[in-house]
Amino acid sequence: MDGNFNDNDLDKVVSADKAHVWHHLTQHKPFETSDPRVIIEGKDMRVWDQNGKEYIDSVSGGVWTVNVGYGRESIAKAVHDQLMKLCYFAQSAGSIPGSLFAEKLISKMPGMSRVYYTNSGSEANEKVFKLVRQISHKKYDGKKYKILFRDRDYHGGTLATMSAGGQDERVMQYGPLAPGFVRVPHCMEYRKHELGLEHLSGAEFGRAAADLIEDVILKEGPETVGLLCLEPVTAGGGVITPPEGYWERVQEICKKYDILLHIDEVVCGVGRTGTKWFGYQHYDIKPDFVTMAKGVASGYAAIACMVATEEVFDLFKDNPDDKLNHFRDISTFGGCTAGPAAALENMRIIEDEGLLENCTAMGDRMKANLDALMEKHGVIGDVRGKGLFLGAELVKDRDTKEPVAEKDVMAVVADCGAQGVIIGAANRSIPDRNNVLCFSPALIATADDIDAITDAVDRALTKVFG
Ligand code: PLP
Repeated sequence: MDGNFNDNDLDKVVSADKAHVWHHLTQHKPFETSDPRVIIEGKDMRVWDQNGKEYIDSVSGGVWTVNVGYGRESIAKAVHDQLMKLCYFAQSAGSIPGSLFAEKLISKMPGMSRVYYTNSGSEANEKVFKLVRQISHKKYDGKKYKILFRDRDYHGGTLATMSAGGQDERVMQYGPLAPGFVRVPHCMEYRKHELGLEHLSGAEFGRAAADLIEDVILKEGPETVGLLCLEPVTAGGGVITPPEGYWERVQEICKKYDILLHIDEVVCGVGRTGTKWFGYQHYDIKPDFVTMAKGVASGYAAIACMVATEEVFDLFKDNPDDKLNHFRDISTFGGCTAGPAAALENMRIIEDEGLLENCTAMGDRMKANLDALMEKHGVIGDVRGKGLFLGAELVKDRDTKEPVAEKDVMAVVADCGAQGVIIGAANRSIPDRNNVLCFSPALIATADDIDAITDAVDRALTKVFG
């Protein structure tokens, strides 16, 4: 394979892929003997594989990313024009798209003030962890260094973000992990029995689930806890929407113990949850840090952002004679100009095409369709989500809530694929679970697209579970 191929050479692409690519999250032994799918092309909500087979992509590039859909010429043009003007300069200097996107982003995030560019969600989250450790040294003699994360949440694949990893399957065998990370319980109403809170519901449950965080803080010693890091709606842990009353209580707890609040919007950010730009904006929350990645430029360029308040930023300006006073951190590709150029155009599209509103309307439709499937298929135990960010949890028995076998979930995913609909599965909380079907179509989805996706799921569930 010399890199010069045309459509007739696609079999060479498949053999080069099999021979040389180490795929993400893939068990390669079964993969090598399978008929691997190579995605060649995309337009709007659809993609085509090496055999010319067309799919509706209900997962926006597999991992909640292509929010505005494929084949957007205006984003490609914005990136092209910017690259021809200036492809790169380290972000210790300014750039036109970096400045303009930061201003636009902050205009959508009242209370937030400063944007730090990186190139992945993991990296953005690590920046927060570093800042918290530095703040601990600046203000608290190095004592307020602990970082709390939640069971089932995910914050990335680097060693520090894995140390804040609430999904055991992702973390096992990678230890020893970084010290100073402490897990708090999840807030999932469907599995509240795991928390010993089965007697509570609604806001009472939400507040009690947040109180479990306070219990951990008191056990660790509030003077040692610097940060609480949470996803607004948990993604890979099984699409977990927070219960009523939860976030308000979380905010109170952070205030009470002087703990900074970090919202990981890597999945939810930039429209995915509908109506609002960010997941946290649906609740009464004032974060100190917000991180985002996937939907920021819909995958047209690699860009992630760590956003902080002016109060946090101010801490890094004090005492100019101290050579250690500032944030001594750099991200080489945080200086790429293609990212913010794509992100600016991505945001313009979402605004001008009314995609936040479409996301809410189509999300409501999809939720209603999935609720109807739950009436028909006993194997669906719960349907959850917000906007076009939805999950359906599959269980053997609605009373015991025992998850179905992962192989059956994968059979549903495969059957949908055979029907020309790509869906996902999540829940890596413990190995061999993965029992939540995931849906995150592009925000441009139409009613016909949504119905086609849920019709395929209906047929697949009948085929696999009867
Ligand atoms: N945070 C959340 C909530 C995620 O879902 C992910 C990735 O899926 C990350 C962080 C890590 O982002 P990245 O893969 O860009 O490092």
